[in-house]
This record gives sequence, C-alpha cells and structure tokens, in this order.
Amino acid sequence: MTNDELRQSLLMEAKNGYTRISSAQRAEMESYCKDYMAFMDACKTEREATAWAVAEAEKQGFKPLTANAQAKPGDKYYLNNRGKSIILAVIGSESLAKGANICAAHVDSPRMDVKPNPMYEDSEIAYFKTHYYGGIKKYQWPTVPLALHGVVCKKDGTTVTVTVGEDDSDPVLMVSDLLIHLAADQMQKPAAKVIEGEQLNVILGTEPIEGDGSDLVKLHIMKLLNEKYGIIESDFLSAELHLVPAGRCREVGLDRSLIAAYGHDDRVCSYAELAALFALDVPAKTAVCILADKEEIGSVGVSGMQSDAFEYFMDTLCDAQNVKLRECFANSFCLSADVSNAFDPNFAETCDRRNNSKLNYGVSICKYTGSRGKGGASDASAEAMCHVRTTFDNADVIWQIATLGKVDQGGGGTVAAYMANRNIVTVDAGVPVLSMHAPLELVSKLDCYETMLACKAIYLA
Ligand code: MN
Ligand code: MN
Repeated sequence: MTNDELRQSLLMEAKNGYTRISSAQRAEMESYCKDYMAFMDACKTEREATAWAVAEAEKQGFKPLTANAQAKPGDKYYLNNRGKSIILAVIGSESLAKGANICAAHVDSPRMDVKPNPMYEDSEIAYFKTHYYGGIKKYQWPTVPLALHGVVCKKDGTTVTVTVGEDDSDPVLMVSDLLIHLAADQMQKPAAKVIEGEQLNVILGTEPIEGDGSDLVKLHIMKLLNEKYGIIESDFLSAELHLVPAGRCREVGLDRSLIAAYGHDDRVCSYAELAALFALDVPAKTAVCILADKEEIGSVGVSGMQSDAFEYFMDTLCDAQNVKLRECFANSFCLSADVSNAFDPNFAETCDRRNNSKLNYGVSICKYTGSRGKGGASDASAEAMCHVRTTFDNADVIWQIATLGKVDQGGGGTVAAYMANRNIVTVDAGVPVLSMHAPLELVSKLDCYETMLACKAIYLA
C-alpha cells in the first residue's frame, strides 16, 4: 500500500461541505434557508416561536394532547406549555416501550428584559430600566436599534401583545453610549464594566406633554402607551416585555453563504427540528420535538427543560399505550440540538482548532460541554456518539466534531444534562455560530440545512 492509500484508509480528513453537497441539495438548501429566514423574522421571542409552531402544527394536522388521546401510529400531538414552550410528537409504529427519538432545542435567546417598575424620567428623557437575560457582552447593546416584544397582562384579565420596532413605519428604541471624546476613563475599563447592567436604560422619548407638572415626558409616553394598548403604569408588574435587536435577518457575504440574525441560538436548531418533524410520515419510533424556554438562564422554571411538563406530555402518551414512562425514557434517545462555537480565525487562540467546529463543515456533534474538568456536562458515552455518527453517515448527513473552546478557556451548557438526568441517552449537536450571543449572530446556510437533515435522521433512527 502506498502512503496515500494508507492515509485514505486510516486517517480522518474533514472536507468542506460545499465539496460534498449535490446541486439538487444546494437548491433545497437555498429554499430551506429562505423559509428559515422568514421564521426568524416572525419569531424573536420564545412566545412568538411557540405561537408560530402551534399555528404551523395545526396546519399539519397536529392536535392538542388531551387525557383521552389514543396515541396510535401516525397520530400527531402537541402540548403548548403556557405559550412559552412547545412539545410535539408523531406517534411511531412501534410501542413507546421501545423508546422515543427526541430532538430538544430552545427558543429563548439573550436579550434585555423590562424591569417590573421600569419607567422613569431623567433630564427630560423617558426611559425603561432593563435587566439583561442570558449571557451578553453588555457593551454590545448600546446604539443598536431595538424592538419591544412581549405581553402585558392587565388587571381586567385581558392580555395585550406588544410589538414595536419591526414594521418599517415603526419607531425603534435605543440605549445610548458615551461619545469617544469623553471616554478616556471608560476606555480604560475592563470590557465587563464598559457598560454596566444599570446603564442598559432604553430611551423611550423626549417630548413633554403640554401643561404643568413634573415628569412630563414620562407622562406623555405613558399616555401614548395607554392610547395604543390600554395599559397603565402598574400593569408593567404583570408584563413580560423584551428588548431585542430590531429588523430582519440578512444574507451575509458577497456569495450570500451566511445568514445574520438575532437569536440563531437556538432558533436555528428549533426550526431544523420542526421542519424535519413536519416532513415525517409514520416513523418507526415515536418522534418527539421539544422547543424549550429558559435554556439561557439554566433551563429553570415551568417552561424550562427541567420542568415536569415534559413528563406530563410523555406520560400521557405512554398511558394511552399502557407503557410505563420510565421504560420509555430508558429506551429513548435525545439529540440536544443546540449551537456550537464556529472557529473564528480572529480569535484562534481561544480554541483547539483540531476539535472545534467550522463554518460549512455541517452539523457539529459535541460529546461534552461544561467548563473546567467537564464540570456540568452530561459527557455522552462512546456508544451514544457511535449511534449518532452512524445514524448521520447512513443518512448522508455532513457532520463534524465540536468542543466548546480550549480547555479552561470558559464553558457553557445546554439542555443535554437535564435530558440525561431523566435516564435518556443524550448527545449535543447543532449549527456552528459566529458571534454567539451578540445582537446579530452568523451561521452558514449549509450548516443550517445539514442540521435539519440531522434531525430527520434522528427521528427516523
Ligand atoms: Mn443554545
Ligand atoms: Mn446560548
């Protein structure tokens, strides 16, 4: 054997996905990404993504799960978890005792949340006070056009939905930054302190209402809000209002190979899971799609992945088939579909490039996340990793390896650990992202498409 032959048979050689994808698949990829971009424009919060998924599921014949569900092969159910998270299932031809094939992503993303008593006026400028949600570099958020998304629950029992800043005719909101001319002290601060949490105050307006009195700008803004939404100041206590980057996602690069959007993490995998699920006929094993909330703050709360809502959903299905939930879990597999950090040559020193995901190399499989000595990771087994790579290879999915940066460089987590805690074998995999958690993140179209194919392969495994 020549060394070339030996190399071919013994060594691993990663190849750019563009050298492996057919022209028919490229066309499919473009059309998939066009639909994905429309989804991203419509969904910037967990509530919007959940509402979108419910509406689409209804069109596809999914029914809300009820106690008298039959759970027969081909039946399609969903659970709308309080408007902030959704779990869907297509019942397989095999019993749930054989386990389910689960894909779990999250639909919440880092942002700024409006505080419970948010409104004030200073120097005749009206502001909202905010509290950031998830891990952000606070200095990235001033001078970015922001949109206000959310709901206000009024005392009379009605809920109003608020969206300002997305229509071309809408105003946007903004946090100011210090002019460079006076920033001598600021520029010496560590990046974590350049903009502090209590400086993320969002400008609402500057025009005073006519007449006498104090806080005339604030009063003016409250009057505008009251006219449009029927709300009064105390209603902010029972509201969830979020500041997110305003505007639509865009193709990036002269070759249009990338997509910039707010919140690819993790709506890019959420959309992949949904698209794959909706394309299923009757799978062998029951296919379950989870779009969870609260991943960015630890998967906590009633709509987070640690919530018993998942057991409630799966137990209802298992009951219908006279199967024990624990037996179903023990035989299930979960792809924790979440993004990875794409290798960025600008910050090469933060990664081990031999073990880092790269743009255009396909869905990235991540054995463990965590920090320090893998702390907090679910650390998938060799067997689980083998199941995933074999499943992807058999379905011609372009995949690669991911780790979260250099050893001791930092870390993070996903919902994987919480699925594994349920005695469900779980592996992380998803789309590589540049500028993760920034107001605009970047992904490659090819990786988006391959991640959808990866979810489909898992559902059919
Ligand atoms: Mn994520
Ligand atoms: Mn994240």
